[in-house]
Amino acid sequence: MKPPMRRHFLQGLGAAWLALGLPRHAWASVVRAVRVWPAAQYTRVTIESDSALSVNHQRLANPERLVVDIEGLELSSQLRDLVAQVQPDDPYIGAVRVGQFQPRVVRLVLDLKQGVAPQVFSLAPVAAYQHRTVFDLYPTVEQDPLLQFLQDKLRAEGQAQRQADDALGDFIGRVGQRPEPLERLIIVAIDPGHGGEDPGAVGPSGLKEKDVVLSIGLQLRDRINATPGMRAYMTRDSDYFVPLGERVRRARRVQADLFVSIHADAFYTPQARGASVYALSTQGASSSAARWMADRENASDAVGGINAQVADAQVLRAMLDMSTTAQINDSLQLGSAMLSQLDRVGRLHKRRVEQAGFAVLKAPDVPSVLVETAFISNPDEERRLADRDYQAGLVEALHQGIRQYFSRNPPMARRRAL
Ligand SMILES: [Zn+2]
Repeated sequence: MKPPMRRHFLQGLGAAWLALGLPRHAWASVVRAVRVWPAAQYTRVTIESDSALSVNHQRLANPERLVVDIEGLELSSQLRDLVAQVQPDDPYIGAVRVGQFQPRVVRLVLDLKQGVAPQVFSLAPVAAYQHRTVFDLYPTVEQDPLLQFLQDKLRAEGQAQRQADDALGDFIGRVGQRPEPLERLIIVAIDPGHGGEDPGAVGPSGLKEKDVVLSIGLQLRDRINATPGMRAYMTRDSDYFVPLGERVRRARRVQADLFVSIHADAFYTPQARGASVYALSTQGASSSAARWMADRENASDAVGGINAQVADAQVLRAMLDMSTTAQINDSLQLGSAMLSQLDRVGRLHKRRVEQAGFAVLKAPDVPSVLVETAFISNPDEERRLADRDYQAGLVEALHQGIRQYFSRNPPMARRRAL
């Protein structure tokens, strides 16, 4: 994109500017889009603009609200659109008000449903995005994935809240130990790739990877939860972005026995087809294609947008230093079991588990695989991926692969060995 040419073009539009909600003044940034991504973990508001915005924010109490002043901006239809984008079931935002606070300052007031710890940061242009200003509204007290997992499990079993509370009270404070109601359970972390600001790969007819893999992930969750002795944990269960390190952290927090990341990526040739399974490598990739795929998947944080100041880079670095040899051996076994099942559903891209430095597979103590279910860039496979029956076939194959793996590697023996 060449901004000077664009400006020329806009000047030619004359009076139509106002009607389009475009700014009259050279000092003003143009807002391209406004997006809201509500989720239980956090709600994100993104303002995308043609230049970086200067933003001040303050939290006010009674009632709780976040007041945001953006300099160099005029009220536009895109900004007003933000008001309509807030959904009634948003856990954090009750309503948004937008106004021209001063001649060159737009004020947003976010009426909050609860106190939040906001993270406000900006992102330089990347992929299809221009400049982004991001407001991540986190709860003041972080939701513990393990507590959440336990509560969901006990609720699913129809246990009374009181019993659930007792069971929880039993383990709180005991770090590194499994709470009693989970001791004999196989916990499978299911990680649908991408989400929210990060659509993943997009197929030739517009199908988004993030939507397909969420659909497959939710079906796999139900299949696993219907299996005695197994329970699924979702690293994301709706359309919002979860950073790669956070996915790993959540899986480790619930002491998952397995981590299965689900994808449907693109390749630079539309002919590429078939399923593949990847494990971590700490010593270079098993092929240049595997390295290429890992680079693509690892770009998720940049596209999805993480706050560089609080990125859990340190946590990831610490995990990398720990031994991952046993993890990788287990992951290769799990991957092989899955490939033998996927072979029955459709084509395989590679018959062997490939290896590369995928950031999302770096839990040192949880066998972790990344499944590329098909190439969404292949028109044929894009059509299949959208098909509910084909998805069900993939789910069945992954489920059988997981069962096969556990029949050969009982989790109790593994846990004792740790
Ligand atoms: Zn992907």
